[in-house]
Amino acid sequence: MHTNYIFVTGGVISGIGKGITAASIGKILQARGYRVTAVKIDPYLNWDAGTLRPTEHGEVWVTEDAGEIDQDLGHYERFLDIDIPKKNNITTGQIYGTVIERERRGEYLGKTVEVIPHITDEIKRRIKAAAEEAQADFTIVEIGGTVGEYQSEIYYMAARLMKAEGEKVIFIHVAYLPIPKHLGEMKTKPVQQSVERLGELGIQPDFIICRAEGFIDDVRKEKISIFCNVPKDHIISNPDLENVYELPLIFEEQNLGSKILEKFGVEQRKPELSEWKKFVDALNNATKKVRIGIVGKYFEIGEYRLPDAYISVIEAVKHACAANFLKPVFKFMDSMDFEEDPEKLSILNELDGIIVPGGFGAKGIEGKIAAIKYVRERKIPFLGLCLGLQLAVVEYARNVIGLEKANSTEFDPNTPHPVIDILPEQREILKESRYGASMRLGAYPAVLKPGTLVYRLYGNVPVVYERHRHRYEVNPKYHEALQKHGMVFSGVSPDGRLVEFIELRDHPFFVATQAHPEFKSRPLKPAPLFKGFIEACIKKL
Ligand code: GLN
Repeated sequence: MHTNYIFVTGGVISGIGKGITAASIGKILQARGYRVTAVKIDPYLNWDAGTLRPTEHGEVWVTEDAGEIDQDLGHYERFLDIDIPKKNNITTGQIYGTVIERERRGEYLGKTVEVIPHITDEIKRRIKAAAEEAQADFTIVEIGGTVGEYQSEIYYMAARLMKAEGEKVIFIHVAYLPIPKHLGEMKTKPVQQSVERLGELGIQPDFIICRAEGFIDDVRKEKISIFCNVPKDHIISNPDLENVYELPLIFEEQNLGSKILEKFGVEQRKPELSEWKKFVDALNNATKKVRIGIVGKYFEIGEYRLPDAYISVIEAVKHACAANFLKPVFKFMDSMDFEEDPEKLSILNELDGIIVPGGFGAKGIEGKIAAIKYVRERKIPFLGLCLGLQLAVVEYARNVIGLEKANSTEFDPNTPHPVIDILPEQREILKESRYGASMRLGAYPAVLKPGTLVYRLYGNVPVVYERHRHRYEVNPKYHEALQKHGMVFSGVSPDGRLVEFIELRDHPFFVATQAHPEFKSRPLKPAPLFKGFIEACIKKL
């Protein structure tokens, strides 16, 4: 099996959508019937992304096999419609950790263990293993950060070595071209300098993808071509897009797919993107609006707002809207606002549905509970995800069953009614301060109850698998009381101990799940709960 490797590097600044770019490159090759997989390299020392703060790093992506990963893996899964295993996310922590462990086991006995070749060997081994496991024709490897950062240098070195050792490798450099306001002109110098930095590392890009406000013109292509030693027709525009799913089509218009195949000397094939086009068209041209509120808290970072913390939820809403030819209009609400001023809850009336997504820690919890009470009583469609389910249960316990001060022990360890409590096995883990990758993570089955809304939305199948990331659960001691007072457990774990889905009957749509179905939503296969939720929102319209 000989795979073709495409290394995607970044230049000038970070945050220019390198992940979307890498995913789009994968898409246009996959659209030609080639098998594609993707690897993300994060040059930080954390073992995985599970311990990173969402406001700083965006959402933590959860894989089917229980990985807590950088959100770029989410872009790859969505664009390529494949499940990507956790080992396709490589961090410096993993690389050094593995080499040091190996050294202690005596596997390098007698040798001096050094960054080169032992660290580069481990990087190469992991990249090749990912390609091998996926039986991929093309393996896209995105090196996180921008060229010139000290901590990522070793990865460029490993990539260069792979090529030198005879693997089929090309380099695609994604760099930013600023248009300074006072000049009004697109400047190419930073791109040139970032390509020089690549050169110092022994890498000559085969393609340059120009991230900018708009398309790059001929004059600038010429300039970049001369200074960066890249043929003019290998300089590709990647303009700002309102709809990122359009990028594969923008690349296709510039024949990037066939140019890549030509570079590798691989057989040319016609791309099949008609369904994808329909999806993009729905997102771009639907005019009927559906207003979706997201009640969260991970929005603020300094003076800026960052809805990136909820990116999979947002994307899942978009997929469900496209399937119904609707235009989603998002309203992001910080639940703290509802705590400071309960009058503000009336804003929920202006929405067609609200989502309470996942979250951790006590901050903003009471505001979310107030919002859930409001939409439950006023029959506004509601979808609760993980923490959203837990708080829906707390709210129900307090206001329907009458259990005063009911709470989750995550927020009030001394609550008289711990309706949400930590799993006994989780209690042990926390006692020993083992925070890394120790939650209930990844795909778990739920047995659905025939006749429920959730059962119907999943297409009347008895068992579904969704991805999880949590420590707390509906306390089995309260199962009976909750059900007696009308809460329907529409799905539970096979042993019946854990509540996976709940719903209310006398409500147009009040559904919550302990899982994160947003992680399995794909552009052409919206997650069933999101689809049902959006359809309920239209009915309200
Ligand atoms: N904090 C809650 C728990 O750990 C919910 C987690 C989540 O929403 N992902 O169970």
